[in-house]
Amino acid sequence: MSAGVTLAELLAQSGLPLLEARMLLERVLGKNRAWLAAHADEAADAEAQNAFAALAQRRGDGEPIAYILGVREFYGLEFGITPAVLIPRPETELLVELALERIPANAPLRVLDLGTGSGVIAVALAKERPQARVTAVDVDYAALSVARANAKRHKVGVRFFCGDWFGALAGERFELIVSNPPYVAAGDAHLGQCDLAFEPQRALVGGADGLDCIRAIVAKAGAHLDPGAWLLFEHGYDQSGACAALLAAHGYRQMQSWPDLAGIVRVSGARAAQNVLK
Ligand code: GLN
Repeated sequence: MSAGVTLAELLAQSGLPLLEARMLLERVLGKNRAWLAAHADEAADAEAQNAFAALAQRRGDGEPIAYILGVREFYGLEFGITPAVLIPRPETELLVELALERIPANAPLRVLDLGTGSGVIAVALAKERPQARVTAVDVDYAALSVARANAKRHKVGVRFFCGDWFGALAGERFELIVSNPPYVAAGDAHLGQCDLAFEPQRALVGGADGLDCIRAIVAKAGAHLDPGAWLLFEHGYDQSGACAALLAAHGYRQMQSWPDLAGIVRVSGARAAQNVLK
């Protein structure tokens, strides 16, 4: 490592986009953005240079910044993230907003998050609606421990279960069910690209056409929703038509789809029939 290198030069020489280089250097130094801006002309010591070089190398090799740092912001909250879980996407905030519109502030509504992963949806809902009784399930035990830690981090009470969709919830009914299930088609070229190549495939891939999990959820949710209650779920950019057809085939009412901020139809939902068959 060269002597006399300033922090600003270290950032510039990393070959990374400046924002990412800054995030890594802030982590190495244990300082925030403002500190770094004010001290950019100071010399970087050898220890900091080495530690930064190691992180910059990992990022240069494609490892997602959220996994390197172990955190990602979602819905204004910081969440712990490991390679056991998907990295939260900003477009999933749409699902949280649509859910919040359906959860009155002062009602102890029974809300279920299916396939919670890092728990960001369940925790964001519990944080915004302290009166709601939020349950979250995931089939992956390692993911659940990330989700539990996130609930603890934000001091919210969420009930967690390990199970396959409704497997751990026999006989339970909810007033709202939300899910961001795996919905990418197996063999989709995006799976090998960028962050997706490092994410758990089990959390991304929903069978040959991507719809396996959505089919399972739509088929089973009716028996776990109060009459007239909403099911809301995220899906792929080209899946809203198939989702509406699935919901209709299973007797749901008032099918709707909503676009994310990029204009991509990203969430669909419907209400359980008033006379749901058990
Ligand atoms: N939106 C993610 C992607 O395509 C997929 C998330 C998911 O499968 N739930 O990158």
